[in-house]
Amino acid sequence: HAKNCGKNNAKLYSSSLTMQIMSHVKLEVGLRKALQNDELYLLYQPQIDVASSQIVGFEALVRWRHPERGIISPTEFIPLAEETGLIVPIGEWVLRTACKQATGWQHPRRRPVRVAVNLSAKQFKDENLTQIVLSALHDSGLPAELLELELTEGTLMDDARATMVTLEQLRGIGVYLSIDDFGTGYSSMNYLKRFDVRALKIDKSFISGLPADSENAAITRAIIAMAHGLKMAVVAEGVETDAQLQLLEQYGCDMVQGYHLGHPSPPDSVQRMLSSQPELATT
Ligand code: C2E
Ligand code: MG
Ligand code: MG
Ligand code: MG
Repeated sequence: HAKNCGKNNAKLYSSSLTMQIMSHVKLEVGLRKALQNDELYLLYQPQIDVASSQIVGFEALVRWRHPERGIISPTEFIPLAEETGLIVPIGEWVLRTACKQATGWQHPRRRPVRVAVNLSAKQFKDENLTQIVLSALHDSGLPAELLELELTEGTLMDDARATMVTLEQLRGIGVYLSIDDFGTGYSSMNYLKRFDVRALKIDKSFISGLPADSENAAITRAIIAMAHGLKMAVVAEGVETDAQLQLLEQYGCDMVQGYHLGHPSPPDSVQRMLSSQPELATT
């Protein structure tokens, strides 16, 4: 069809922008079918308690096994899912799958293991969110306090009244709320005080330059001090080296997550990691 449009148009039609739009549309069509075709799956990355070196939870991270393109990262398809509203059914699938998986992780003689699920702003605004969360917990049998929901600063700042209502409902259910990518968005300190958030996850961009980067070191220490002052726990994301871990321990960081502690891994690796965790002392 481009051939009929004359020389200049032909040039335009084959431009990389057109290619981008076409591949975007193709990706969207594919994403619509990804759920029903079983092309989505979850990996789980361990979160480690610094003081005891034990696993306290796993973050669920979605992947798309595309029939032609291979494995696609969430940084590529989550924005598309948000744009198209597909994030609502995809997010529900993630929530239900993660809760079911985490129910199987629990062991009567080991410490409880949380599962963390990322919530996008669109999901948070969905009026059915609390019903979906309740239903995922009920159907899986997972205790509410073992489900962590990761929100971003942007999600919380969007619409003050609706945000308060939703947070109040989630708090009523008893899930563990955390703020993801902390420090990269806009946070009002006043809001942090009012929201009943249990943990801040320091964004990996602050951690990656440690220990050499003195500015990011100062920011990291300040976030930890503030969080502790507000009785919140702190998770450092993107911990890749032992030197970073040592520094974070020295700063009093509560939990760490990153390639140094463990990569996002399939369910069978999770079971293996958990089976090497110590059993609780019996009295
Ligand atoms: P996030 O929630 O901040 O997740 C952490 C990201 O950092 C993950 O990327 C993880 O694989 C990566 N990561 C972990 N350790 C390290 C490290 O030591 N170094 C570096 N450089 N990276 C590390 P991933 O899996 O590609 O996910 C990217 C983002 O996509 C997530 O960022 C999250 O915002 C979004 N996402 C993933 N799964 C879901 C989901 O189920 N729902 C929603 N709404 N968003 C999701
Ligand atoms: Mg996250
Ligand atoms: Mg996130
Ligand atoms: Mg993050």
